[in-house]
Amino acid sequence: MKITKTTVTEYEVEPLIMKWHITVGQFISTRKRLGINSEGYEKCFICDKQFKDDFYPSFISVKGLGNMFACNECMKNLIQNSLIEHS
Ligand SMILES: [Zn+2]
Repeated sequence: MKITKTTVTEYEVEPLIMKWHITVGQFISTRKRLGINSEGYEKCFICDKQFKDDFYPSFISVKGLGNMFACNECMKNLIQNSLIEHS
């Protein structure tokens, strides 16, 4: 008998107001060249949307994980939400 268990993980995310002048493609190829794991950086951490190689990603801080990338849409929502939370 096979059973499937799905775990749901909650992450606390904060937007980091920082724009990078390096594309996702450059970032991943640099890490690959240095032998650093680049898993997870090829897509938005929040919505899993795959980035194009020439996309300039936004940073988010993920509690327990560190800095990850987010797409523009998620970043916009995140900034709006955190403005509401902090006001
Ligand atoms: Zn997203």
